[in-house]
Amino acid sequence: MNGADAQSPVIVVGAGLAGLTCALDLVRAGLPVRVLEAADEVGGRVRTDRRDGFLLDRGFQVFNTSYPQVKRRIELARLRLRPFTPGVLIHTAEGGRLRFTDPTRRPSDALALLTGKQDRGPGPGQGPGPLALAALGPLCALDLLAPPRLLKRLPELTTREELARWRVPDRVVDGFLRPFLAGVFLEDDLDTSSRMFHLTWRSMLRGTLTLPADGMGAVPRQLAEDLPPGCVERASPVAALSAAGVTFADGSAADARAVVVATDAAAARSLVPGLPAVATRTVTTYHHAATRSPLREPTLLLDARRRILNTCVLTEVAPTYSADGRALISTSVLGTDAPGREAALREVLAELYATGTRDWERVGTTTVAGALPAMVPPWLLSRTGRTASGVYVCGDHRATGSVQGAMASGTRTARELLADLRRP
Ligand SMILES: Cc1cc2nc3c(=O)[nH]c(=O)nc-3n(C[C@H](O)[C@H](O)[C@H](O)COP(=O)(O)OP(=O)(O)OC[C@H]3O[C@@H](n4cnc5c(N)ncnc54)[C@H](O)[C@@H]3O)c2cc1C
Repeated sequence: MNGADAQSPVIVVGAGLAGLTCALDLVRAGLPVRVLEAADEVGGRVRTDRRDGFLLDRGFQVFNTSYPQVKRRIELARLRLRPFTPGVLIHTAEGGRLRFTDPTRRPSDALALLTGKQDRGPGPGQGPGPLALAALGPLCALDLLAPPRLLKRLPELTTREELARWRVPDRVVDGFLRPFLAGVFLEDDLDTSSRMFHLTWRSMLRGTLTLPADGMGAVPRQLAEDLPPGCVERASPVAALSAAGVTFADGSAADARAVVVATDAAAARSLVPGLPAVATRTVTTYHHAATRSPLREPTLLLDARRRILNTCVLTEVAPTYSADGRALISTSVLGTDAPGREAALREVLAELYATGTRDWERVGTTTVAGALPAMVPPWLLSRTGRTASGVYVCGDHRATGSVQGAMASGTRTARELLADLRRP
């Protein structure tokens, strides 16, 4: 940057997954790096709070072991991962429960899936039938076997249009895929780019959904632990960028050889004029405690009527989420919290879990505005970190709204910055 010499550090603004990943690669290349984080802890959107003996992730999140960046960078053993059962349970419009699972992983469930004969739920569910499900076969085969570079080059449509192109019957789309994907993309119209759908579906088919024993926040903490001591400066919000580096709210400044803005999309736009606006999704997660677990299985429960995105007894997945043995239930809905919403939600949960919910204790409510970029077509799956102003920008909004996307964006930006610095 103008005014800063080659001995100055590279400054990374933001210690979310993108910023931490970028910083790790810059440090490994031998550069001095300062990571300036506004919050009191690293992780950005992936954080876990401890409250009343419970681990509360900031919104329901799952850790997918198949992401390439995860395989490359995360030491899984350090996370003490707890798996979900493969597949999901769906509370049907008729009031029964269906289990959708990958029969290659749980062969014992294949028959139930095909016949619609169901699970010990509140009542029998109406299965989609073998022919309807068979329509998913070729699509699953493509996503499972084709290399990602091919999936990224498929024609881009909305997910709804793509499922129609593959002739997936409406009852499979509306009865299973739409409720499931609503919780993944945080929108329930299947408006998300079909390329993102294929990549996500691939990661679901190949990976295992898990939770770290210490909460999702353990993932960014592990990345931060691998940086040199003192590299991450918490509670250090950057107010503006300058010709020589950055300035803080109190007017003080820090010089930088280069600056990487690794914040969320809105903060990046306020720091770097000229960045495009990115529409985002908002989600609210309610955490409840119950003396008894309402579903003795580590699985996701969905609602075919889409009154919620998903619900899950977190303590069935990772008992460490509760210190006193009570069950911790996480339920997510689209949009923000509002008066009366939680009370209405309890009614829905009573129906879904077939149990009384009046004595459940509400232990937390988290609304995340800007939880994910709205990845509607046309959506570039990877954007350069270089910008016209000379500042570098990374984050999920420059790739895909996911752990993989954020880390891949940080990786790409570090690679580009290093290449630029090496240029004579
Ligand atoms: C509720 C929810 C559920 C999700 N579920 C999943 C899931 O199951 N699987 C999955 O793969 N992905 C999931 N995601 C998406 C994934 O968490 C994000 O895509 C990813 O964490 C984004 O990382 P990031 O580094 O790009 O941005 P962020 O995490 O937003 O990090 C940006 C950082 O910049 C800091 N910052 C901002 N402004 C400043 C400033 N001025 N100065 C200094 N620092 C600043 C912020 O405090 C923050 O720490 C979910 C997201 C949410 C919110």
